[in-house]
Amino acid sequence: MAGLQAVEDLINCPYCQARLKRQSAGFCCELCDRLYPVQGDKIFFRDPSKDNKLINGETDYHRGDNLILKLKSIVKRKPEFFIFLYKVAAPFVGLTAEQFIKKFTSDKVVLNLGSGSKIVNSSIINIDYDPFPGVSIVTDIKTLPFADTSIDGLICESVFEHLPSPVSTINECRRVLKPGGQLYIVTPFMLGYHASPRDYYRWTEYGMAELLQGFKIVESGPAWGPTVAVVSIGGAWLSLFLSFGSKTLYQVWLVFFMFLLSPLTRLDHLIARHVRAVDNAHGLYFIAEKI
Ligand SMILES: [Zn+2]
Repeated sequence: MAGLQAVEDLINCPYCQARLKRQSAGFCCELCDRLYPVQGDKIFFRDPSKDNKLINGETDYHRGDNLILKLKSIVKRKPEFFIFLYKVAAPFVGLTAEQFIKKFTSDKVVLNLGSGSKIVNSSIINIDYDPFPGVSIVTDIKTLPFADTSIDGLICESVFEHLPSPVSTINECRRVLKPGGQLYIVTPFMLGYHASPRDYYRWTEYGMAELLQGFKIVESGPAWGPTVAVVSIGGAWLSLFLSFGSKTLYQVWLVFFMFLLSPLTRLDHLIARHVRAVDNAHGLYFIAEKI
């Protein structure tokens, strides 16, 4: 695991870009005196006493997603189980983060933005809004606590759709990456609203190229294929049809159909090879290089 020692020399103040010095309670900015507390093996660049109420489903109560959000929140704390469930429900057909990082030698600095509890590789620095196991830096990724052109690679899987201002994060990615540094992004495409805690955007290939100003897309394709899209949207349609207006029954059906229909998703290993599968894929991946 990357841990605190690995990030100590890399981090700086996200407000004034000044260096941070270690104190007993955490890291203090040499310029603005802001203190970023350390708890266990994590540095908090957001207030650690502030719970993510949205993750707990409290402020999104009116939507009636409580059951699914609670299930997600519990399952995400068991990383292997979460990854297993995800692979069963939606087989990944694109280039994976594990394959992406093979191009980086061990001396390179690679960050996983919005990592959750996923550990792609023990040398990668995990960053998330929630202090999941394996996360070293706890922050909102609107600003990144790293110096300009200090990072070799970035991973950002299924995160951009949840950012209210993705342009701010892209600007930060461009700022911290070295020229020639690469960013690996996975985003859903043909997928209904999904919480976690909120869902804002979808991108086509052209939309992502617009978002990635200052980058050159070097590779892209389906991450999950069109069958996952059909199963996901079809399962939601059946759940609406069979729940007679009940929010709870709707959520129970959603989980039921996700597993009942999941064997069909294996067809994507064939269908997603079609050159036009990107037009109706459940999700897309992009590798972009900073110009
Ligand atoms: Zn500062």
